[in-house]
Amino acid sequence: MASQPQFQRPVSSDWRARAERLSDADMEAFWMPFTSNREFKSKRRLLVGAAGCYYTAEDGSKKYDTLSGLWCASFGHGRPEIAEAIAEAARTLDYAPPFQYAHPLGFELANRVKQFTPAGLDHVFFTNSGSESADTAIKIAKGYWARRGRPEKNRLIGRVKGYHGVNVGGTSVGGIEPNRAGFGELMATGHLPHTLLEENRFSRGCPEHGADLADVLEQQIQDAGAETIAAVMVEPMSGSAGVIVPPKGYLERLAAICRKHDILLIFDEVLTGFGRLGATFGAELFGVTPDILTMAKNITNGSVPMGAVAVTDAIHDAFMETSPLEYDVEFRHGYTYSAHPLACAAGLAALDVMERDGLVARAAELAPYFEDQLHNLKGLKHIVDIRNLGLAGAFQIEALPGEPGKRPWQIAMAAWDRGLYVRFGGDTVQLGPPFIAEKADIDHICNVLADIIPSID
Ligand code: PMP
Repeated sequence: MASQPQFQRPVSSDWRARAERLSDADMEAFWMPFTSNREFKSKRRLLVGAAGCYYTAEDGSKKYDTLSGLWCASFGHGRPEIAEAIAEAARTLDYAPPFQYAHPLGFELANRVKQFTPAGLDHVFFTNSGSESADTAIKIAKGYWARRGRPEKNRLIGRVKGYHGVNVGGTSVGGIEPNRAGFGELMATGHLPHTLLEENRFSRGCPEHGADLADVLEQQIQDAGAETIAAVMVEPMSGSAGVIVPPKGYLERLAAICRKHDILLIFDEVLTGFGRLGATFGAELFGVTPDILTMAKNITNGSVPMGAVAVTDAIHDAFMETSPLEYDVEFRHGYTYSAHPLACAAGLAALDVMERDGLVARAAELAPYFEDQLHNLKGLKHIVDIRNLGLAGAFQIEALPGEPGKRPWQIAMAAWDRGLYVRFGGDTVQLGPPFIAEKADIDHICNVLADIIPSID
C-alpha cells in the first residue's frame, strides 16, 4: 500500500498564544455544542492546529485524529490544494446570493458530485450541514407526494438508534432516545427496530443475522397504510449510535419493500459518503440505489460547512413540472449559504484530492487490516462487542450500572492524555481514521486503547 503525504506544517505560534490567553472567564460566552460545558472547563482541550493525521493541542502536543475530526476530514488535515481554493474563492467572490442568482462553482460542484453518486441520482441540492441535508430530504419527500397529488402520503419512517442530525425533522426521524427527549412534540414518525442483535456480537463486517428485521416495515405499512407513508430514511451504516452495520441482505430487503409499496427510500450518507466504507457511497457498496441520498462531511474534507441532497429525475421533475407561474419558485426551500462560493471551492478541491490520490481505494485496502487489529482486542476487560465496516469501527463497552456512557468518556479522556483524539458516543468508543492512515498508525491506536480500556474501573 503506497504511503500518503502527511502535510507536516509548523503550527501557528499565534494560535497557541491565543489559546494561552483564554482565561476561565473568557470561556463563559461560548455555549459549546453537544458538550458537557462544565466538564470542559475543568479539563480544557483546545486544538490549535492540524496537519495530516494529527491535531496539535495548546500545549504543543500532537493528538492522533482517530475519527477524522467527526468523520469529516477523511482525506487528511491541511491539504494545501483545499486551503488555496478556499482563499482564492474568498478573494474572488466571497458571497453570492443563491436565490435567483448563482455562480459557476455551484454548477461545477453539482456536476462533480453527480459523477460520484449512483446512476440516476443526478440532481443536487446544496445545504450547509448533515442536519440540513436530512431536513431538506424530508421536505423533498413530503413535497414530492404533495406535487403528485397525494398530500396525505407524508409520514416518515426512521429507525431506532438512527441519527439524522439535530434539526426538528432529523430529530424526529432519528432514533437516539436521549437526543429526542425533552423537546416536547416532534414530527409524527414511525421507527423500525435497530439491527444490533446479541447473536451478531463480534461480527466482522456485515453480520449474518437480522435481514428479516426489515420485514417489520411490512407490518408498519399494514398498520398505517402505504398511502400515509412518504419515505423510509436510514443510514446504510449508522455511525453516531456506535457503528451499527447492516445485517447481510437487510438493506436490499428494505428497498424491495419500499418499491413494492411505492414508498421513497432515503439513504442518509452524511457519514458514509465519499469513501468511509471503502466505496464511494454505501449505496454503491450494497448495490441499493435510494430515491434520495444525503451527504455532507467529506464533501469538503470538513474544511467548510457543506451538505448536499441528490435526487432522481422523477423527484426533480415533480417539482419542476408543477409551477404555475414562470417566475414562481419550484421548491420554497433553501439557505442563505446554499452553494456558498467558499464551500463549493473547497468541495471541488476536496473531491479532486480524493480522486487524484485514489483515497476511496486506499480506504478499502486498509480496511481488512483495520478489521484484524480491532478484533484482536476481543477478550479485553469491558469490551462486549466489536463492530466494523470499511474504515469505521467501534468497541462497545459494558455500561456501568446507572452511569451510561461513563466508561467510554473515561477512555477518551485517558486517550487524550496518551496522544489520541478519540470519540465516544453512548456506550461505544468509535474509530474512523483518515484514509491516509498507515498500518503503523492503526497498530498504535489499538495498542494505546488496549492499554487503557482494561485499566479503567
Ligand atoms: N446524518 C448522519 C448520518 C450523521 O452522521 C450526521 C453527523 N454525525 C448528521 C446527519 C448531522 O450532520 P451535521 O452535524 O453536519 O448537522
